[in-house]
Amino acid sequence: MVYGLISDIHANLEALEAVLAELNGVEGYLCLGDLVGYGPDPEACLTRVRALPGLTAVVGNHDLAAIGRYDPNWFNPYARRAIEWTAGRLTSDDAAYLGSLPDTEEVAGAVLVHGSLPEAMDYVTNCEDALDCFDAFGGALCLVGHTHVAEYYTRPESARTCEQLGLLRGGQVDLRRELRYLINPGSIGQPRDGNPQASFGVYDSDARTVRVGRVDYDLAAVQAKMRAGGLPRYLSERLGRGV
Ligand code: ZN
Repeated sequence: MVYGLISDIHANLEALEAVLAELNGVEGYLCLGDLVGYGPDPEACLTRVRALPGLTAVVGNHDLAAIGRYDPNWFNPYARRAIEWTAGRLTSDDAAYLGSLPDTEEVAGAVLVHGSLPEAMDYVTNCEDALDCFDAFGGALCLVGHTHVAEYYTRPESARTCEQLGLLRGGQVDLRRELRYLINPGSIGQPRDGNPQASFGVYDSDARTVRVGRVDYDLAAVQAKMRAGGLPRYLSERLGRGV
């Protein structure tokens, strides 16, 4: 089956719509968490994602913080303000939905988790982190988000060694039988890898490929909504720089 990979949407509706247009024709969707936080459209993004056919989603730390189940003191002051702003705008139904999302899922040979394993909210930013994650799952493929950096890690079945490879401008990963993979499709709503384009993935479980794509969206419209909504100016400015 062919799945759209969507992660770290962060209430950025314009970026989400641009990505969903690119994903037209996929048979299911795998969401790696952080639907809300930072951006100006938490409700609209939740409505849109919840209606996607064949959706499997895991929870992110911002999703949990928005419903009071993750300590926002872990966040920087800008993220904390955005979470308080978001919490006041969620319907009880959407809050219950976020609270119902699991930490991990397994779909079509892939483990889904927001950050890492065994701790779902840890970050994978280097090979040392990746090897800890590889140790904590048994299969060939783990899909993660959380860092907002499109990249992937491989390790051989037979050795505890690791290679880290970037997907800054997108690209296709052919899943080889002798390797295991940890793949981050990057962030839709707040990329931090220096490329401000929305980032997404496509996982073809039959062809054994993961493709990461980047797409432009109406950044100025999102920034204007964030300013009008009273979200921290720093958060709208960083969108333009992709950091
Ligand atoms: Zn995030």
